[in-house]
Amino acid sequence: MIRNTLNCFSRTVTSTELSKSCKTFLSFLTIITGLVVELVFISLESFIGNRIFYWGNILTIFLYFVAFILLKFFQKPFLSSLTSIVALTLALCFHLIKGEIYSLYWFPLIPLLASMLFDFKIFLSFTYSPIFLVSLILSFQLFDSSYILFSKETYKLGFSAFTAYLVFSTVAAVYRFILDRFREELRLLLDRDYLTGVLTRRALFSRLKSVDCKRSPYSVIMADIDNFKQINDTFGHQAGDRVLKELGKIFKENLRKTEFVGRYGGEEFLIVLPDTDKEKAKFVAEKLRKLIENSYFNYPGRRITVSFGVADCREADCSKCSKKVIELADERLYKAKREGKNRVISD
Ligand code: GH3
Ligand code: MG
Ligand code: MG
Repeated sequence: MIRNTLNCFSRTVTSTELSKSCKTFLSFLTIITGLVVELVFISLESFIGNRIFYWGNILTIFLYFVAFILLKFFQKPFLSSLTSIVALTLALCFHLIKGEIYSLYWFPLIPLLASMLFDFKIFLSFTYSPIFLVSLILSFQLFDSSYILFSKETYKLGFSAFTAYLVFSTVAAVYRFILDRFREELRLLLDRDYLTGVLTRRALFSRLKSVDCKRSPYSVIMADIDNFKQINDTFGHQAGDRVLKELGKIFKENLRKTEFVGRYGGEEFLIVLPDTDKEKAKFVAEKLRKLIENSYFNYPGRRITVSFGVADCREADCSKCSKKVIELADERLYKAKREGKNRVISD
């Protein structure tokens, strides 16, 4: 939990990690706050001696515990958040039943929490469906004065609390919409290499964490453009940039959805092939090599070649050492360069 809290405020994690840790941290905060408030209430109830509402508090505390277990032991942040929000709603309803009509003003807390804990669409449906229902009930009384559901006083208070709920929900929705757009832009900035459109080195290493050699062996391909300095020197850096851009496109278009490619260095790309052994990876690298060799690059108006080094994660000594596998692929890439470039080396 402490790690999640730190991640939530840290700038060094990738955008996806940030969002997940923040949600876990916020769910945890909601549960703890709810539990503390309920424990205070339960002490008061036992002091007053009101048994029915005492059990109401016990039920709410039980739900908060369920939310905690779902978050901590089952890693289900959505179900956990849903349970804690249901617990909060129940608690507020108990206070209403008790006759504490002013607890209506606490209901806007629900859309505010939902805007932080849920995805945008779930938040919208979760928040606006009660608005729709209450509008329906209120409109009965508004258009048919003979249809008396509440006293005038209750109706007035309910109406202003409902307006507060509506305003809070809408402000939360607008804020969340803008925040999501910023977050998406930030994600693209952090994860996509601006020039080539492939993953950045940081996103590449983050995604590499999701592949585990023990669970399912994977292979990596290190690719480096041959004589790229010459292209820059002869045709200028802009032409070099266009080559990098077109090459990034070729890699992306010719890989499967589960496979991913990132810019490892200036003109070096790293391709990760999950569930793929070295023989298959060698085949993929050879296919890419031939494809590039036969492609005509509009800028600088000539063909280019690329050298490849291939390694299988099982060749590294430890199961989670992606760095070791990359090192092996890199060594083989340099062997390919020494042996005359434009080739694939896998041993
Ligand atoms: P080799 O076949 O041995 O790989 O030779 P090379 O010329 O490709 O290798 P070298 O490492 O000598 O040169 C790499 C060049 O890549 C040097 C650098 O200017 C260029 N480079 C790195 N990043 C970029 C970039 O983003 N844009 C452009 N245009 N050039 C870049
Ligand atoms: Mg090169
Ligand atoms: Mg290089």
